[in-house]
Amino acid sequence: MEKLNVYAAIIGGGASGLMCACVAKRRNPDKKIVILERDNRVGKKILVSGNSRCNLTNLDACSDNYHTSFNDGINFLLKNYPPSKVIEYFNKLGLVCKEDADNRVYPLSRQASAVLSVLRNELKRRNVDELCDTEVQNISQNNGLYTIRCSDKIITAKKVVIATGGKNNYAQKVIGDTFLVSKSIGHKINTLSPSLCPIKVTSKVIKSLKGIRAQGKVTALINGKKVKSEYGEIQFGADCLSGICVFNLSREVNRNKKAQIIVELLPDYSLEEIKAMIKNRIALTENDSVQELFTGLFHKNIGIAILKDSKVDTSKTANSLSDSEICAIANTIFEWKFDAIPSNDFSSAQVTCGGVNGNEIDPNTFESKKAKNVYLCGEVIDVDGDCGGFNLQFAFSSGMCVGEQL
Ligand SMILES: Cc1cc2nc3c(=O)[nH]c(=O)nc-3n(C[C@H](O)[C@H](O)[C@H](O)COP(=O)(O)OP(=O)(O)OC[C@H]3O[C@@H](n4cnc5c(N)ncnc54)[C@H](O)[C@@H]3O)c2cc1C
Repeated sequence: MEKLNVYAAIIGGGASGLMCACVAKRRNPDKKIVILERDNRVGKKILVSGNSRCNLTNLDACSDNYHTSFNDGINFLLKNYPPSKVIEYFNKLGLVCKEDADNRVYPLSRQASAVLSVLRNELKRRNVDELCDTEVQNISQNNGLYTIRCSDKIITAKKVVIATGGKNNYAQKVIGDTFLVSKSIGHKINTLSPSLCPIKVTSKVIKSLKGIRAQGKVTALINGKKVKSEYGEIQFGADCLSGICVFNLSREVNRNKKAQIIVELLPDYSLEEIKAMIKNRIALTENDSVQELFTGLFHKNIGIAILKDSKVDTSKTANSLSDSEICAIANTIFEWKFDAIPSNDFSSAQVTCGGVNGNEIDPNTFESKKAKNVYLCGEVIDVDGDCGGFNLQFAFSSGMCVGEQL
């Protein structure tokens, strides 16, 4: 068993751990700082983020974008390590950033690999060792020093950072409980569930819609109550609804037992306006098949699926629709309901809801209240953000904050 003595060990080489190491080493150039990463290389999740373009922060980040038991910590970060500070730091490392029309910030090159490269170059310049294929099993304290047990090493460190991420192991080779290390020092892990992922639905028509995209509004209906709505591009899958607007509802759905998604394909129209529109289209299409009723308005398969979900015989002509059938079609277009299946599958989730209980972390230093000189940063903490750069903003800013404590 190899033995190593270091000043600080950062467990986890993701966005938060890498940022923490860069900031800490600049402050402590003569002290040995190592990153312990269980996978065969660091930063894999950064590479796949934002469709490999890496939406690294969002200029509009505010506390409303976060769901957490650590509100004080979020507010501290937004005040002291806002998006401008993250961008400024990346600029210093040579990364040129550019925001899009929605204030989402990306590297100018639109390459996630550029974000990882500037961080790793800085670590190389400052002699921070990345020890990959090194899984930490637990940590324990003895006479003010920490013993870190890994698969093939024992490391002694004065300061420890837990940056082990969430339960979602997207793009990673090694899978296992990322909360083991936090548990080993007595932290409570708040209930975990997948977030920012497609939502599975039970529906007879969904298969026929696979691959179709439509603009609209989606609303999560939990136990019959509308809890959250989003606008944007809805992507239909063989058994699910997807797209950023749907991702943003997935946390509500997956944390509840009974959920429905309402799709509004014409969110700017009232029910009466939709009825009138259908009547006008019947006057236009006359003897045509009812399947042509929506030609020029919706994708053909969406039109047919709406008719089927409204229990209309699709072999009819448009002008033979009864008043009650017109009402049923209008109701479906107005609020098309899909029964959602809450999921515990993390394989397609971008983030994990839940994690180390925020009440057990000092909000001004991110030091664990369970163990002195142990700090936490990134998704291992019970913080999950909306889609749009908010999760990396949290990972990078909490990494910076902890780096400055070392
Ligand atoms: C497909 C995808 C796209 C995304 N796109 C975006 C986006 O565009 N914008 C955005 O803001 N967010 C995005 N996210 C979310 C964002 O990537 C994460 O929130 C962020 O990377 C979390 O960083 P982290 O350092 O906390 O955790 P991670 O990046 O998960 O890093 C944790 C590291 O710790 C290691 N580890 C775990 N346990 C141990 C152990 N016991 N010993 C040693 N090492 C260990 C893991 O292997 C991992 O490398 C995306 C996520 C995914 C999956």
